[in-house]
Amino acid sequence: MRGFGFAEHGGLDRLAYVDIPEPAPGPGEVRVRLRAAAFNRLDRFTLEGIPGVAVERPHVLGSDGAGVVDRTGGSDDGVRVGSKVLLNPGIWDGTCDACRAGDEALCRSYRIVGEHLQGTVTRSVVVPGRNVHPLPERLSFAEGAAAPLVFETAWRALATVGRVAPGARVAIVGAGGGVSTAAVQVAKLLGCHVVVASRSAERRERALALGADAFLTFDEEHPLDRALWEESAKRGLDVILDSVGAPTLPRSVRALARGGRVVVIGATAGPTVELDVRTLFWRQASIRGSTMASAREFDEVLAHLAAGRLRPVIEAELPFDRAEEAFRRFDRGHPFGKVVVDAPPD
Ligand SMILES: [Zn+2]
Repeated sequence: MRGFGFAEHGGLDRLAYVDIPEPAPGPGEVRVRLRAAAFNRLDRFTLEGIPGVAVERPHVLGSDGAGVVDRTGGSDDGVRVGSKVLLNPGIWDGTCDACRAGDEALCRSYRIVGEHLQGTVTRSVVVPGRNVHPLPERLSFAEGAAAPLVFETAWRALATVGRVAPGARVAIVGAGGGVSTAAVQVAKLLGCHVVVASRSAERRERALALGADAFLTFDEEHPLDRALWEESAKRGLDVILDSVGAPTLPRSVRALARGGRVVVIGATAGPTVELDVRTLFWRQASIRGSTMASAREFDEVLAHLAAGRLRPVIEAELPFDRAEEAFRRFDRGHPFGKVVVDAPPD
């Protein structure tokens, strides 16, 4: 079957349509005939090659997908052929200490569809039966593909790792990315005062329309910590969600209130930072990492999506034969929300 991804790691010039065998589900697994897939920042890193992660090549990109179950290998999760579903792209073994303790995101053999495994920008994908969930009625296939990874990431980062409480002052660094558009909604749902900080003023109206209480811009002249400090009326922020990394993380730490947390969920602009640790201990601040979500957290997010309390933001939806255009559009970093690619027709 045709898929979109790469045969060799590298830059955007390596993007290609590839052929891989159509997978067959084994015991406990199901096959989903995909209808839509969506890109994430992870796809760019997978294309380039992530140290320590070996991928089968040719490789199909895409962690998120939604479609219809067309075959089961004897799944004991009650999944029926013909069910409309969306995927939880995080695969856990169910047997290690973390899984048995109910925190599958810490699974020792955690893998992600489209990163460690063949992805969703293709005709079909095989996952464990427990990784498919009924597509909520109010969501289209495109929305079902746009929601999972970014919403589960935002949920765990804010609710579990960030421990936000109603009234907490939360800043989200970066506007427009899939996780950012999800995180604004999640933080508002959890009762927080939400500030979005971006270098790009043109995203103000859309961030505010999503529910952000304030939007601020920063640059070299007016750096992030000063902007956040002013915004918080010189009280500092309780939780800052930072996915940018090198250029913003030290500034994020300096904008924290006493006891505040920076939750790191990515490093889109570079992984290595120099940090003055004195900014941590006096304010008893902490930096924590978060990625993906447990099965319970995924279920919580799905319930909110099904009830319409969270809504995926889609910048564009393109047909399969324009997948490269879709990837480049997303990769330029300008979209507001997700870029969805329709699955190839029969
Ligand atoms: Zn495990």
